[in-house]
Amino acid sequence: MLLDCWIASLCWNVEMSKRYIPTFQPSNLPTTLLKELIDKFYLDQQRDKEQTRFYITDAGKCPRQIFFKFKNVPRKKMDPRILRIYEKGEYLHRNIFNILYRLKIGVTTEVPIPAQEIVGGRADAILCINNENYVLDIKSINSMVFRNLTEPKEENVYQLQLYLHYFNIKKGILLYIDKDQQNIKEFFVNYDEKLAGTLINDFNELKKRVETNIVPNRIPEYPQNWQCQYCQFQEVCGMTGEGEVSWEKFKEKMG
Ligand code: SF4
Repeated sequence: MLLDCWIASLCWNVEMSKRYIPTFQPSNLPTTLLKELIDKFYLDQQRDKEQTRFYITDAGKCPRQIFFKFKNVPRKKMDPRILRIYEKGEYLHRNIFNILYRLKIGVTTEVPIPAQEIVGGRADAILCINNENYVLDIKSINSMVFRNLTEPKEENVYQLQLYLHYFNIKKGILLYIDKDQQNIKEFFVNYDEKLAGTLINDFNELKKRVETNIVPNRIPEYPQNWQCQYCQFQEVCGMTGEGEVSWEKFKEKMG
């Protein structure tokens, strides 16, 4: 009986093996369909927009890049992959806000800085812990940068200093999230009046250049500087040359 069953199953397997099994033919299939549509969605979202004021997130950034934004110079579209990374960062921010609310520590999120002439921006959150106020700035970064982070990044400190200045709060926290592994590091930053003053002065100097049409110098270590690697104005910056130059004369030369 057992032998009969075994023979029957063997015959069934042999029969099955004779049947037509469609083979996978990659050449019949498109190589990309959804990826193309999704990337196009991100590319279509991007509009060149003239910048009309400074943002706190401009602190520590290349002044020439900001100048080009004020002049609405056509820029290279950003890689959709980078935009997806930004989106992921926003999601992580919202997640932290949610946890802060659930912790029931005094928290107000996405707080605009008081209106004034030179700069605009919104702090991620203002917290009240043990009767002390803190400005919180959250940054999501990749695992490799996160691992090597032993102190807050300079440009992040600059931004936080301006928040502290405009909110008149003496202490801040920079919270870094490793977006790949979900680890967290935090750094405390004290308000530095002198540094905040220098940063505001830098904005005022750049404002003068925007108004008088003087393209600022390139940043040091051009083009190896990380800002240049991601810059949407690499082409025009290359044509403009190294030092300060008249924007009007440059445009005339380019016809
Ligand atoms: S390429 Fe570098 S120096 Fe030139 S505008 Fe961009 S960031 Fe600034």
